[in-house]
Amino acid sequence: MELIDGKKLAAEVLLALQDKIAQENVKPHLVIVLVGDNEASQIYVRNKLKAAEKVGIVAEVVCLPADVSQQVLGDKIVELNHDNAVHGIVVQQPLPEGLSIDEVVEKIAPEKDVDGFGISNIGKLVQNLGGGIIAATPKAVLNMLVSTGVALAGKHAVIIGRSKIVGRPLAALLLNHDCTVTVAHTKTRNLADLVRTADIVVAACGQPKLVKKDWLKKGAVVIDVGISRVGGRLCGDVDFENAAEVCSFISPVPRGVGPMTVAMLLENTFEAFNLQRRKG
Ligand code: NAD
Repeated sequence: MELIDGKKLAAEVLLALQDKIAQENVKPHLVIVLVGDNEASQIYVRNKLKAAEKVGIVAEVVCLPADVSQQVLGDKIVELNHDNAVHGIVVQQPLPEGLSIDEVVEKIAPEKDVDGFGISNIGKLVQNLGGGIIAATPKAVLNMLVSTGVALAGKHAVIIGRSKIVGRPLAALLLNHDCTVTVAHTKTRNLADLVRTADIVVAACGQPKLVKKDWLKKGAVVIDVGISRVGGRLCGDVDFENAAEVCSFISPVPRGVGPMTVAMLLENTFEAFNLQRRKG
C-alpha cells in the first residue's frame, strides 16, 4: 500500500503557485465571506488565509453577523463582483439557518466563483466544455488520483455521497476523465457489494469509518474526503488502519484531501485572476 500524502502534494502545488505569482509580480485578491461564528468555519478560514499569504495571494475575510438578511448578504456579493480589485469570492459553508447558500452562490459572478459551485461553472463541468472553474474538493481528488500514476480511463469509480460540493461535481469530473462512475447515497442498496466492484472508491459521506476493509477489492485506490471529529480526533469515512491492508493507494485523514482542497482553491483564484486579466 502507498499513502497519498495530501499535505505533501499540497505543499508542491503551493510552491509552484508561489513561484508563478512571484515571477509575474502580481497580487491576486481573494475575499472569503464568513457569516456568523461557526467554530469549524473559523478554522477552515484561518487555514485558507495562512496558505494564501504564503503564496502571495491577498486574502481578506468579510465577516457578517449570523442574523444578516439574505438581501444584505446578496448585496455584499454584488458589491464584490463590481470591485475590480477582487478576483475571487467564496462564501464559507455552512451558512446559518434561514439563509440560502444556493441564492448567494448564484449572485457570485462566474469568473470570480473560485469555489466553482455556481450553475455556470457546474454546467461547463457537466458538459465537459472546459473554460470553467472546477470545484476545489473534486479537483483535489482528481489530482490525488492522478498523482498515483494509475490510469483512470475505464476504471469503475464509486463515489459515496451526492452533495453539490463534492459527490455531484466529482462524478462529472471523473466521467470527463473516462471513468465509469457510480454515485451512492443514503438510499443506495447493498452499498458494501457495490463498493466491492470499484477500482476507485471516493468516500464523501461524513460517516466516520463507514467503509470497511472487506468492502474493498484488492488493489483498489481509495480517497477519503470525510472529516468528522470522533473523541476529539479527526476521522475520515474509511476505516483507514484495516482498509490500508488491501488498497494499492489510500489517502489519510488528516493530511489528505483537506490540504489539497485549500491548494486547489488558491490555484482557482490565480486562474480567475488570469481570466479577468485577459478580459481586461
Ligand atoms: P453532505 O452531508 O452534504 O452529503 C453527504 C452525502 O453522503 C449525501 O449525499 C448522503 O446521501 C450521503 N450519505 C450519508 N450517509 C451515507 C451512508 N450511510 N451511505 C451512503 N451515502 C451516505 O456532505 P458533504 O458536504 O458532501 O461532505 C461530506 C464529507 O466530506 C463531510 O465529512 C465533510 O466534512 C467532508 N468534506 C471535506 C472536504 C475537504 O476539503 N476535505 C470538503 C468538503 C467536505
